[in-house]
Formats: sequence, C-alpha cells, structure tokens
Amino acid sequence: MGARAQQNSRFEFAVCYTARLSLCGTTIMTTTTLSVDALPVTRPRVTELSRAALAEWCIERGVPGYRADQIRRWIFGKRVRSFTEMHDIPASLRTQLSEAFSLFPAKIVQHLTARDQTEKLLLELHDGEFIECVLMREPDRRTICISTQVGCAMGCVFCASGLQGLKRNLTTGEILEQVLLLDRLLGPDERITNLVVMGIGEPLANLRALLPALDSVSDKGGLGLGARRITISTVGLPEKIRELAKTGKAYNLAVSLHAPNNALRTQLVPVNEKIGIDEVLEAADDFFAETGRRVTYEYVLLSGLNDSPQEARELARRLQSRIAHVNLIPMNGVTDLPFVEPTAPRTNEFVAILESFGIPATVRKRKGADIDAACGQLRLHQLSPAPASSDAVDEPVLRDE
Ligand code: SF4
Repeated sequence: MGARAQQNSRFEFAVCYTARLSLCGTTIMTTTTLSVDALPVTRPRVTELSRAALAEWCIERGVPGYRADQIRRWIFGKRVRSFTEMHDIPASLRTQLSEAFSLFPAKIVQHLTARDQTEKLLLELHDGEFIECVLMREPDRRTICISTQVGCAMGCVFCASGLQGLKRNLTTGEILEQVLLLDRLLGPDERITNLVVMGIGEPLANLRALLPALDSVSDKGGLGLGARRITISTVGLPEKIRELAKTGKAYNLAVSLHAPNNALRTQLVPVNEKIGIDEVLEAADDFFAETGRRVTYEYVLLSGLNDSPQEARELARRLQSRIAHVNLIPMNGVTDLPFVEPTAPRTNEFVAILESFGIPATVRKRKGADIDAACGQLRLHQLSPAPASSDAVDEPVLRDE
C-alpha cells in the first residue's frame, strides 16, 4: 500500500474491510461455537475482590480473615477450577463461596495451539463480547499476553483490535481470568515467567481495573510474578503514563511510537493528532525519571510507509538523548489488513542505523505462525467470518531483571 492510499480516512478503510469480510465464507477454526445471544449474567468473579476485600467478606460471615489467603492460594497457586476443590476450606464456606461468586464464567470459544506450542484462547464473556489472550513458549520462559478492553478506541490503522471501536473496559476479574486460564494450560512444572499487557485494548485507558489485577499477579499471595517481569504497552497517554509511574511498581513501559514525526504518526495512530509525539516522549521521560526503568519504544515496520533509512535516522535523532530501547515489529502476515512486511535487508538496515546512533534495537520474534494469532484477529473473525489465514503473533522482546 502506497503513502497516498494510506492517506485514505480510516473510516473508508474500515468500510472496505467490512465489506470484504462479508463476502467471505470460511475460516480455519475448528472449535468455533458462536453464540448469538449474550450469556446469562453470572455471579461476580471472586477475583474481582482484593485480598483485603475477600478477608472482609469472610469476617462478615464469621470466618477468620486468613481464610482469604487460603482461598487465593487455591486459585493462584494450586490451579483449582472450582471452589469444591479447596479441601482445607470448611464445606460451609465453600458453599457460601459458590453461592456468592464464580471462578471461571467465561466460555472458551476457541483454543488454538500452534506448532511452536503457542496457544491462544478466544473467550466469550457474559454479555456476548469476545476477548483474546495468548501463551507463548520459549525454552526459558512462558510469556502470556492479555487484553484489557473489548475493542479499542485508539484506531491504529494496522491493528485488527480497533477496527470496530471500543465496546467496554474489562473488569479486574475478567483481566485475571485470562491470566488464570492461560496458567492452567501449563504443565505441572511450568510457570508463567513474563506477562505482557499488549492484547486487545489500550491498557492505560483501563488502569482502574488493570492495576488491582496486576497486584494479584505480582503479590506473593497471588501468582508471585515480579513487577519487573510485567510489561505494559501503551499508545502513549501522557497523564496515564505519569499515573503509572507514581504507583511505585517496577512495571516495564512499552510505548508504541511507530513513526518518528507527527505527520506520519497521526496517519498510523490517529489518536496522535490530539496528543502529539513530543508530549508522548516527555511523559515517557517522566516515567524514566520517576522509576529509573528504561522505556521500550515499539515500532511496527510497514513496508514503504515508515521503514525508510530517513525515518530510521529521524527516529534515532529523537531518541538519541534518551535511555531507550527500540523494539522493531515487522508487520506480520495479517491477511485482512492492507500492509506489507518489509524485507529482511530493509529491516536490518533500520536496525543498523539505530545502532549507529547508539540506540539498542531488537526485532521481535514471531510466534504462532500457523494459527490465527495476530492481536484481535480471532475476535474480529468471530464477529465477521473471514477467509483462512496464517497469521502470527509477535512475541515481545523482554528483559529479565
Ligand atoms: S495497536 Fe493497541 S492501541 Fe492501537 S488499536 Fe490496536 S489494541 Fe488499540
């Protein structure tokens, strides 16, 4: 797709895209159980409650508060699927828990496993909305990627997640349910080693639900996954970046830049028109000043659009004075989107230019090449059946600290 075509409004693009989908018939999915009606409203997930709130709930029922720790150990540490499996909890309390709460109310609509053992779940929520989450396996790590919203309002033109706009925020329990379901895909000797919040949605637009979920993930009484192993990706909402920095948690921040100047960034990431690249970078600088954590800048390489040597040099000059790392993401083979992956020499040249300016850069590895695993693709196909594809999900490059 050339630069001129890129200037088409996103609305026009979305209309063409939807029309194309409506002409298509089949998918490669083998486990589809599309529900037309919304699922019945369920009892609230017990994971909506913090440890303190659950302890209070216990105390209100004449049960010692420490039972909350036991219950959470079963959920986060022992991978139970029901309250009845919590053997050291009194039967009467288990009954009360079952009557008041649910554990895994989401319906697994699709569960796909790639040849490289990447696994992806498409979940249907009680209101009929769909979200996705992914487990990626490497020899020394098990990384999960989770969603924070149903849809996305940011409208990045290369992303399937935002094509139909934002439906709603996920709750803390809905975010945690993804983590816990993926954790239960692991073998007895496997543990989640890294978590990236890079699925459907803009995470910083739902910090109110995300932060308590991450507390449970990182707490010793929860999954016990250190904050340094958790990466939050954002399109760059300045005030929310500053709010995240002030939590005092050592989360990693990944800012999706995708272009070195406002004109190009606004084409690719429309919300940039209201924010501006300088403001995004200043907020990231504030994050670094507050936390001492190096910021990763993500840059999806779109052939002929933002992958030229000039753009590499412009990006390098912007980041040169900063403690930064660039994560390059060659556009993957998302067959539903009209963008093309750059050639390997082009990508390598981009990396070399950044490195010549002293900016460390990595190229993201691709995972799940034989399943429909690019962000938002399963959900979109569930909403509008699409042709067979062989998309890949990009595995974030993470740092162990
Ligand atoms: S790339 Fe992220 S922020 Fe942009 S539309 Fe997709 S989910 Fe939203």
